[in-house]
Amino acid sequence: LQSGVDQLGEFIAEAKVIVPFTGAGISTETGIPDFRSPGGLWTRNRPIPFDEFVASQDARDESWRRRFAMEETFAAAKPGRGHRALASLYRAGKIPAIITQNIDNLHQASGFAAGDVIELHGNTTYARCIGCGTAYDLGWVKTRFEPQQRGPDCSACGEPVKTATISFGQAMPEDEMQRAAELSQHCDLFIAIGSSLVVWPAAGFPVMAKHAGARLVIINNEPTEHDVHADLVIRHDIGQTLGPFVRN
Ligand code: NAD
Repeated sequence: LQSGVDQLGEFIAEAKVIVPFTGAGISTETGIPDFRSPGGLWTRNRPIPFDEFVASQDARDESWRRRFAMEETFAAAKPGRGHRALASLYRAGKIPAIITQNIDNLHQASGFAAGDVIELHGNTTYARCIGCGTAYDLGWVKTRFEPQQRGPDCSACGEPVKTATISFGQAMPEDEMQRAAELSQHCDLFIAIGSSLVVWPAAGFPVMAKHAGARLVIINNEPTEHDVHADLVIRHDIGQTLGPFVRN
């Protein structure tokens, strides 16, 4: 671990523009389970694809039941060492913006301006109408969901309201994809942290950055398919790896 941290420290010192790309693994130490690890969310529940959510009130009800079952976990989570290390580098001017697959709002909570967090898969801390896009806070949803455990419809247009996340089968957000591509192609150090790098198209950004000439670092406690492209692979715990870079 120490040699990896030292090497990462040298890469960070040499870099002018660092772009981090984060996945669920950066948040496990905060108590939010990832998808694919043992005990991860997928080992418990099959994800509900977007077309099912659209087609079925039962699917919508189930989706909101699951969301509210996780409510305390999300509400209690505080940024971990990984989040705080990245926020330190952001404050130091090394990181212009961060690309994340996470939906937990913890990069914003650690000090990133909302406009500098590029959320490829949306955000689960609020809701949106899938028709007109009107945003709702979860309190609004909860008061309507609780009496009969039924997912609510938009008060503006009548279409279903869903967490503001991107489900499987749902279109990727265009502006975010565009900004993520630009950042990936205009950095000199790209650090992929806590992602199994199997969810596409998000998983394409590390390789895009490498092809555009950036150094690529992968920090993940298990191997990924992209390790072969990396200049440095740190196969260790994220909190331990990034803890030394926290500056409060
Ligand atoms: P993933 O679950 O597929 O992969 C997470 C990776 O992180 C795994 O390879 C795991 O071994 C590793 N990991 C977990 N804890 C670690 C630690 N402490 N140190 C080092 N490595 C660790 O997650 P993904 O690649 O982000 O893709 C899954 C999708 O799940 C994303 O699209 C995201 O939207 C969604 N998701 C988000 C959250 C969140 O917001 N916190 C949580 C679960 C799922």
